[in-house]
Amino acid sequence: MSDPLWLTEGAPHVWRPYCQMKTARPPLPVVATRGSRLILADGRELVDGLASWWTACHGYNHPHIVEALRRQIDTMPHVMFGGLAHEPAYRLAERLVRLLPGDLDHVFFAESGSVAVEIAMKMALQHQINRGVSGRTRFLAFRGGYHGDTLATMTVCDPEEGMHSLFAGVMPTQVIADLPLDLASEAALDALLAAQGHEIAAILVEPLIQGAGGMLAHPPEVLRTLRRLADKHGVLLIFDEIFTGFGRTGSLFAMQAAGVEPDIVTLSKALTGGTLPLSAAVARRHVFEAFWSDDPQAALMHGPTYMANPLACAAANASLDLFEDRAWAGNVARLSANLAEGLAPCRGGEGVVDVRTMGAIGVVEFAEPVAVSDLCARFAALGAWIRPMGKVVYLTPAFTTPDEDLALLTRAVRQVVGVD
Ligand SMILES: *Cc1c(COP(=O)(O)O)cnc(C)c1O
Repeated sequence: MSDPLWLTEGAPHVWRPYCQMKTARPPLPVVATRGSRLILADGRELVDGLASWWTACHGYNHPHIVEALRRQIDTMPHVMFGGLAHEPAYRLAERLVRLLPGDLDHVFFAESGSVAVEIAMKMALQHQINRGVSGRTRFLAFRGGYHGDTLATMTVCDPEEGMHSLFAGVMPTQVIADLPLDLASEAALDALLAAQGHEIAAILVEPLIQGAGGMLAHPPEVLRTLRRLADKHGVLLIFDEIFTGFGRTGSLFAMQAAGVEPDIVTLSKALTGGTLPLSAAVARRHVFEAFWSDDPQAALMHGPTYMANPLACAAANASLDLFEDRAWAGNVARLSANLAEGLAPCRGGEGVVDVRTMGAIGVVEFAEPVAVSDLCARFAALGAWIRPMGKVVYLTPAFTTPDEDLALLTRAVRQVVGVD
């Protein structure tokens, strides 16, 4: 079957993500989604192993979310948030705060993950300024980390990261350290903060697992160490839960597995169940209080045009309804067991250095970076949508993916790894 006309006519004009446009294979035309599957223009169905970049946690076209969107679109698709209020956002803020531990009580909405991280960074900087602390203008982040593609978030990503090393020198450099995984690296981080802490506004980390940097997991004690060091040196702690939030690692938020409360948390990706762009930076009471003043200059000066879009908030509320019935936890446990069992034989594969799972994340790591586009094509031929990243082939399926579709995904990985 030939390509659809919209693809041939639009292809010369669409600039694709992370893509050498000259040499890249053409993208796969998708015409519909259903449950755990993508339906292609030629009628083929692929099982989605990625849940569309970790967003579609309840599967595609979930009837409860679709129904909520229908109702909202007929009533009010969008209004500006400056000076106006609407029920979807106000209910969502109150519900998020109820789900988050401790006094993470103040929700600032935006439209993308990167922007939420930028807002969290801005909150941290201005929190210090508003308290009369000067000179704390930098951030400390970790090797292996990923916090977004915008200019400021790039500075807190792993500096070696292929996606961004090109822009070295464009933006101010931040302090990039090793995660405190053992006593030696903990002492090194403590010493680094003793020397440079007075310049640092906040520490940024992806809790429990660094996603885009290669699905690198760390034990919860690391987060307790970071909390202790942040308090000792007077810096704020920001958890970027854009990947880990909403059940992916097995607890609703990764911070709960560690029993650690950050000062600010960022959320996005699965927030709307993979239907619309929405993000949030949620701050603890003491952060918010630094902005509470009679001085207009002390306000947080930020306000994305589409912030708190009512449709996106309606989708997020519907997604939270689905989280409330707790079936997700059983599903994540089921996926975890299936992924561990289905991927285990890959340990014997050529070039494989590690196979690991955490919650609904399954990872096969190679010694060297893999040929992403070749592998995508081989996976698609096996009926799977899997797009590796650097040295890892990974699966982050929708929590609702049925066992037979999961089996197709893990078999496809085994076949491509050459152990099946
Ligand atoms: C995806 C991601 C981001 C960036 O989100 P965008 O919506 O792509 O801007 C930031 N932090 C983490 C941990 C992510 O996984």
